[in-house]
Amino acid sequence: LIRVEGLRKSFGSLEVLKGIDLSVNPGEVVTIIGASGSGKSTFLRCLNLLETPDAGHIWFHGQDLTAERCNINKLREDIGMVFQGFNLFNNMDVLDNCTLAPVTLKKMSKAEAEKVAMEHLTSVGLEKFAHAAVGRLSGGQKQRVAIARALCMNPQIMLFDEPTSALDPEIVGEVLEVMRKLAADGMTMVVVTHEMAFARTVSDRVVFMDKGVVLEDAAPAELFGNPKHQRTREFLSRYL
Ligand code: ATP
Ligand code: MG
Repeated sequence: LIRVEGLRKSFGSLEVLKGIDLSVNPGEVVTIIGASGSGKSTFLRCLNLLETPDAGHIWFHGQDLTAERCNINKLREDIGMVFQGFNLFNNMDVLDNCTLAPVTLKKMSKAEAEKVAMEHLTSVGLEKFAHAAVGRLSGGQKQRVAIARALCMNPQIMLFDEPTSALDPEIVGEVLEVMRKLAADGMTMVVVTHEMAFARTVSDRVVFMDKGVVLEDAAPAELFGNPKHQRTREFLSRYL
């Protein structure tokens, strides 16, 4: 579904991505782990062109996103993204957050968009909060709204950037559970996370990023059970 080749990105003299190669197949859950500053967020942001890569290629359905004539807006409809900080519109209620993009970008009727939104809000367990003000929700509820909102665009792949890092520990589980369900339903997902239990039990593949390169890319049992590189072992030892 996505194939990345030789992706490079610098900010000024700081080389953040130094030639990333990675493929994600339909239905796959790929988790990205790695130390702070290793380039995980930058990589994810390149995938939907929130950052412009300096070099390399990103193919999505065989279309080269780094080509000049690529339609970024169409692409962003197909790629859902969930951030650490929710990025919801706090001045709108839950339902309006979910219907805004489908109505404005997909030209869906308000009624149809609300029907779709209610389905997704139900799947994340928040149908009762459709008319609640976003500001009144807990962090876990906000993140579940953010997931439902992304799903309303009917994306082909979902990117998650540390979706539980800003949450209180007792709330992390409810968000991971929604993601687990999404994965079981067959959604293609790329997840940057420090939740090693999630990486181990939900991913098809785990990618260890180190200083702007992919150091290891393996099945979870392999990466956690038998890491090939000293750097990976050092990183994982912090989570024991
Ligand atoms: P974390 O685990 O802390 O989220 P990360 O692996 O996601 O880290 P990135 O956010 O991709 O790392 O950042 C990699 C490096 O790039 C960091 O040194 C960061 O300061 C730098 N960086 C990221 N975005 C920008 C930007 N827009 N301008 C300048 N430097 C940036
Ligand atoms: Mg990050």
